[in-house]
Amino acid sequence: MKIVIPDLGDFADVDVIEVLVNVGDDVEIEQALLTLETDKATMDIPSPAAGKVDSLTVAVGDKVSSGTVIGELTGADDNAASAQPDPSAATDSTPATASIPTEVGSAAEHDYDVVVLGSGPGGYSAAFRAADLGLKTALVERHERLGGVCLNVGCIPSKALLHAAKVIEDAAAMADHGIRFGTPDIDAPQLRNWKQSVVNRLTGGLAGMAKQRKVDVIHGTGAFRDAYTLDVALSGGGSQAVSFAHCIVAAGSESVRLPGAPDDPRIVSSTGALELAPLPESLLVVGGGIIGLEMACVYDALGVPVTIVELSKALMPGADPDLVRPLAKRLGKRYKAIHLGVRVTAMASADDGVRVTFDGDKAPDPTVFGRVLVAVGRSPNGNRINADAAGLHVDERGFIPVDNRMRTNVAHIFAIGDIVGQPMLAHKATHEGHVAAEVIAGHKSVFDARVIPSVAYTDPEVAWVGVTEAQAKEQGLDIDVGKFPWAASGRSLANGRDEGVTKLIFDRQSHRLLGAGIVGTSAGDLISELALAIEMGADARDIALTIHPHPTLGETVGLAAEVYEGTVTDLYVPRKRAS
Ligand code: NAD
Repeated sequence: MKIVIPDLGDFADVDVIEVLVNVGDDVEIEQALLTLETDKATMDIPSPAAGKVDSLTVAVGDKVSSGTVIGELTGADDNAASAQPDPSAATDSTPATASIPTEVGSAAEHDYDVVVLGSGPGGYSAAFRAADLGLKTALVERHERLGGVCLNVGCIPSKALLHAAKVIEDAAAMADHGIRFGTPDIDAPQLRNWKQSVVNRLTGGLAGMAKQRKVDVIHGTGAFRDAYTLDVALSGGGSQAVSFAHCIVAAGSESVRLPGAPDDPRIVSSTGALELAPLPESLLVVGGGIIGLEMACVYDALGVPVTIVELSKALMPGADPDLVRPLAKRLGKRYKAIHLGVRVTAMASADDGVRVTFDGDKAPDPTVFGRVLVAVGRSPNGNRINADAAGLHVDERGFIPVDNRMRTNVAHIFAIGDIVGQPMLAHKATHEGHVAAEVIAGHKSVFDARVIPSVAYTDPEVAWVGVTEAQAKEQGLDIDVGKFPWAASGRSLANGRDEGVTKLIFDRQSHRLLGAGIVGTSAGDLISELALAIEMGADARDIALTIHPHPTLGETVGLAAEVYEGTVTDLYVPRKRAS
C-alpha cells in the first residue's frame, strides 16, 4: 500500500520536520510517521494502516502537500486502508502504547455504552461529554459528592482559603497607605463552613447536571472484574456489577506519605490541612512545591508561624528561579524559617506536637510542631482498580499509559487525568476527558495540546507555560528573552505591589513564542493569553502589536514583547536590535 499525505486543507509545500519511523519498522494504524510544520501548526501524519514500512521517500527538510506519496507499507490491512487517517493528529508527549487489545469478557450485552470510573474534573467532563454525544453513560464515584479531589479537597477549597488569606493581607498592607483595620478576629470553624459551602454549591451543581444529562451516578468503589465489567462496592452496602462497551478510567492520584511517619492526626496531607480548625500553634510544611506553598500562604495569613523544609536547593523546583525569587523573598520575610536542601528523616508523636528530625548541610535541630503538612507529591491510583483483570497495563509507578486518543493497551478502555501521567492538573484532565468521550463516539479527536500551563496560587502567584528558560538552555534552544518588571507597571504600583515580572521566551530566529512565565498578582489568569499565543504560533510582534488595555496587569504581556522587540517606551532598555 502506498503511504499518501492526506488532505492538508489550505496548506501546500509543508516542511517535514521529523521522520518518526525507519524502513523495516512495524507500525500500528494511526501511528505517527512524520511531523509536519506550517507557520501555524505542527501536525503528525498517521499511518493509514498497520504493516511494515517497506520504503520511505521523504527526509527532514523535504516539503510535502496533500496527495504526496511518501513511501509504502507491506502487510497492510485493506479495510483499515479505506479509513482515511486524521491528519490533525498532532505531536503528543503522552506515552504511546496502544497494542493488541486484550479481549476478556464480552461487549455483546452491556449496561452502558460508557462507564467512567472517578468523577474528578477529568471524569465528570468525560461522562458529560459522552452523554452529550448520545452515549448511555454511568459515572462511578466512591465519595458522596462528585468532583473528586479538585472540587472537594483540592483546588476549590484551597482557593476559597487563599481568597480569605488575600483579604487579610491586603487589608493589613493598607496600613502603610493611610487605612488601618483592627487585628482580624478569625473564626476558623466559620471560615471552614464558608469554604465547605463553596464546595457544596459546586459539587451540587455537578449532581444536577448529571441528572439533566441522564448520566447515572453510582456511588461506590469500582474495580475491574474483567475487560467489560466493573464490580462496584456500593457506598450504601452491597455490590453491583456494571458492564460496559467502553470504560474511561479517571481514578486520579493520592498524596504521597513519608515512610515511617507515625499515624498521628497532627500529620496531615493537603486534605487534612484544608480542615483548618483548630488552628495549630505552628506548622511545618514538608515539600516546597505547589501544594506546600499554597497551604503555607493560608496558614501564615491566619497567623500561624510557618516553617518550610524542601529537599532541593530552591522552592518550586519546576519553575525558573527568577520567577520564584520574588515569592521566596516575600515568604522569607514572613515565615519562621525556610530550609532548603534539607530532608525530614524522622517524625515522632509527642505530647505537645510532632517532633521532627532533619538532615542536610543546613539542617535545623529537631523541633516540635503543632501540625505537619506533608506535600511531597502525589502518586497515581493505577494499582487500586484491579487493572490486571481487564488486561490493562499499569507501569511500575502506577500510571496507565495511553496514546494521544487516551486509549490504553485495551482498545475499548481509555484513561485520563492524573492516572495517565504528569502534569497532574485538572485542566489537562478535562481536555483529555473530552478527547476520550469523543473518540468513543467515533470522532477523530486527539489530545494535541502544545502546552499546558502551571500555576501556583501563592501570593504572589507564579505561572508558567511552554518551555522554561532553564529547559530551553538544557535543550540547547536558541532563545532570547523579553522581560518586563512590574515596578514599571502603573497598575501594579496602584495595587501596592512592585515585585512582579512578566517574562517571554522567544525563538531567536523565528521570534515565535516558546514559553512564558509570570510572577505577580493574578499571574494565573494572565498566563492564558500566552498559552493561546503559543498554540497559535504567535511571534513577538503579534503580541507587542496586540493592544492591551491600560492600565492592567495584562498590559505587562504586551510590554514584555515590546522589550524583546526593542520598541518599549515604558522602560528604558539599551537598544538591542534595530526595529
Ligand atoms: P510537587 O511535586 O509540586 O512538590 C513536592 C515538593 O516536595 C518538591 O519540591 C520536592 O522537591 C519536595 N520533596 C519531595 N520529597 C521531600 C522530602 N522528603 N522532604 C522535603 N521535600 C521533599 O507536589 P505537591 O505540591 O505535593 O503537588 C502534587 C501534585 O498536585 C503536583 O503534580 C501539582 O502539580 C498538583 N497540584 C497543582 C496545583 C495547582 O495547579 N495550583 C495545586 C495543588 C497541586
